[in-house]
Amino acid sequence: MKRYSAFAIAREAFRHHTGWTRAWRSPEPKKRYDVVIVGAGGHGLATAYWLGKNYGITSVAVLEKGWLGGGNTGRNTTIIRSNYLQDPSAALYEKSRSLFETMSRDLNYNVMFSPRGVLMLAQTEHEKRGYLRTAHANMLQGIDTRFLGPKEVKEICPILNIDGPRYPVLGGLWQPRAGTARHDAVAWGYARACSDMGMDIIEQCEVTDVTRDGARVTGVDTTRGHIDCGKLGIVVAGHSGRLAEMAGFRLPIESVPLQALVSEPIKPCMDIVVMANTVHGYMSQSDKGEMVIGGGTDSYNAYTQRGSFHHIEETVRALVETFPMISRLKMLRQWGGIVDMTGDRSPILSKTPVEGVFINCGWGTGGFKATPGSGWAFAELMVTGKSPLTDAFSLNRFREGRFIDESVAAGVAH
Ligand SMILES: Cc1cc2nc3c(=O)[nH]c(=O)nc-3n(C[C@H](O)[C@H](O)[C@H](O)COP(=O)(O)OP(=O)(O)OC[C@H]3O[C@@H](n4cnc5c(N)ncnc54)[C@H](O)[C@@H]3O)c2cc1C
Repeated sequence: MKRYSAFAIAREAFRHHTGWTRAWRSPEPKKRYDVVIVGAGGHGLATAYWLGKNYGITSVAVLEKGWLGGGNTGRNTTIIRSNYLQDPSAALYEKSRSLFETMSRDLNYNVMFSPRGVLMLAQTEHEKRGYLRTAHANMLQGIDTRFLGPKEVKEICPILNIDGPRYPVLGGLWQPRAGTARHDAVAWGYARACSDMGMDIIEQCEVTDVTRDGARVTGVDTTRGHIDCGKLGIVVAGHSGRLAEMAGFRLPIESVPLQALVSEPIKPCMDIVVMANTVHGYMSQSDKGEMVIGGGTDSYNAYTQRGSFHHIEETVRALVETFPMISRLKMLRQWGGIVDMTGDRSPILSKTPVEGVFINCGWGTGGFKATPGSGWAFAELMVTGKSPLTDAFSLNRFREGRFIDESVAAGVAH
C-alpha cells in the first residue's frame, strides 16, 4: 500500500495523478477462510481490521451483497458521542470515541473526525431530570459531559430559539469532545487497511445461506459460490434477522426505516451538533454548508431503504420551532436506511446458539459512533470467546431480563 502524505500528493500533482493505486483489491473469493464476516459496513470492516491488527488473523473475507459502505454506514448523519447512561454502554461508546481521535493517523486515511461538540437539548422537565442524571453518571464513568443552563446553550448555538412557546429550552447535555466524522471515509479507510493486510473484501457477493455440520458452522453459500470458514461473524445491521434465520436462530430485533435529509448549502451558521429529542429532530452543518437533518424512525417494520414523506414533514416542522431560520431553506435531498432495533435500545455483541457463529447487531439508529470500538470488542469476542466490552451485550440478557435500558440516551436516537 502506498502511504498517503503531503509528499505523495505533491509527487502525484507533478505526474498528473497517474501513480495512485486502487485503495483496496477486488479479489475472487477463495474456497476457505479462517474467518468470514458478512457485511462490509463500518462494523464488519472494523472487526476485520482489529482481527488483523490485534490478533494477527488475516485469513479473513468480508462479504458484501452490494457495495462497500452502501448500507447504513454510508447513509447516517455521522454523529459521534459517548454520553450514555449505563456503565456498559458508556464504556463501549467511550472506547469507540477515543479510537476516533486517532483513527486518521492509525489508518493513514483522513476520516475528517471533527470533535466540535454535541448538545442534547432538554425541552421538558422530565428530559432535564434525565440529562442531569446522565451528566452525573458520566462524571462517575470518567466521561467529560456537563449540563448547561439555557443562557450557556444560547451562547454556544446562537441560532437556537430558546423561548419557544411549546418547548422552551431548559438546558442541555453538552459533550465537548463529541462530534462527527466522514462516514464513507471510515469504511474506505478500514477497507484499505484490511486489504493491505491481505484480507479479501468481496463486493457484489450476497450470502444466501449458512451451512452447518450439526450445531457447528461450516461455511456460507453466496451468489459467488460456497465459501468454507472456521468462524462466521454476522454484521449486517437491518438484515440481521434474515441472516440469523439462515443460521437457524431467532433475534429480538425489529428492522425499521430511518431517514435523513440535507438542505441547500448556506454560509456557516452552526459549529456544533444539536439534538432535540423531545421535538424529535437533530441538526448539524456539513463542511459543504448543507444543514444535515435527521429525525426518528418510521413506525412500521420494513426492509425498504427509503423513508416516508410524512416523516420528513414531521421532522422539519419540529425543528422549525427550535431553529426558526431553517423555515426559509430548501431541502435538497433525502434518503433512508434500514436499522435494527432491540427492545432496550442497546446492541447485541454475542455468541449464538450455533457454534462458531457470532452476531454484532442491534445498533439501531446510533451505531456509527460505535464503529471502531464495536470492531475492537467483537474481534476480541470472536478470537477469545470473551470481551469485557461485550459481556453485558450478549443475547442471554433478553432471556435473563438484564436489559441495558438506553431509551433516554438513545433519544431521537443518535
Ligand atoms: C438515516 C440514518 C441516520 C443515522 N445517523 C446516525 C448518527 O448520526 N450517528 C450514529 O452513531 N449512527 C447513526 N445511524 C446508525 C448507523 O448508521 C448504523 O448503526 C451503523 O452504520 C451500522 O453499521 P453496520 O456496519 O453494522 O451496518 P451497515 O453499514 O448497514 O452494513 C451492513 C452491510 O451488510 C450488508 N448485507 C446485508 N445482508 C447481506 C447479505 N445477505 N450478504 C452480504 N452482505 C449483506 C449490507 O449491504 C450492508 O452493507 C444512522 C442510520 C441511518 C439510516
